[in-house]
Amino acid sequence: MTGERDAAVGDGIPGDATRCPCGSGDVFGGCCGPLLAGAAAPTAERLMRSRFTAFALRDAAYLRASWHPSTRPAVLDLDDDLVWKRLVIVDRVAGGPFDREGIVEFEAFFRQGPERGSLHERSRFVREGRSWLYLDGQVG
Ligand SMILES: [Zn+2]
Repeated sequence: MTGERDAAVGDGIPGDATRCPCGSGDVFGGCCGPLLAGAAAPTAERLMRSRFTAFALRDAAYLRASWHPSTRPAVLDLDDDLVWKRLVIVDRVAGGPFDREGIVEFEAFFRQGPERGSLHERSRFVREGRSWLYLDGQVG
């Protein structure tokens, strides 16, 4: 598990005091860092943010671990030339520490070679025990 994780991180892990890639305004060590290291996400939005950060850092192991087993892809192909730049949370429904389900709608901006684009998705999350998991999403 640890070996797979190291191999999956292409760009290196940011220092704890650097700005978190998810754009929360917080430092990595006080935001997505602990989640990527195995801490449970307290809310669906925190899990969503940590998954954006994992996409940005190409942490495939974390993306798989935070995916619900019923919808988790067997193989996760991360595009090498896709650079995730910015995350904007558009809407959230439930997803708090005492909820069992949550929805987070977001727009994630990327650069691919000379092109820029964004992904707009309304994602569903479920809580199992103390852990929030990504279930699926509607792109559009
Ligand atoms: Zn973060």
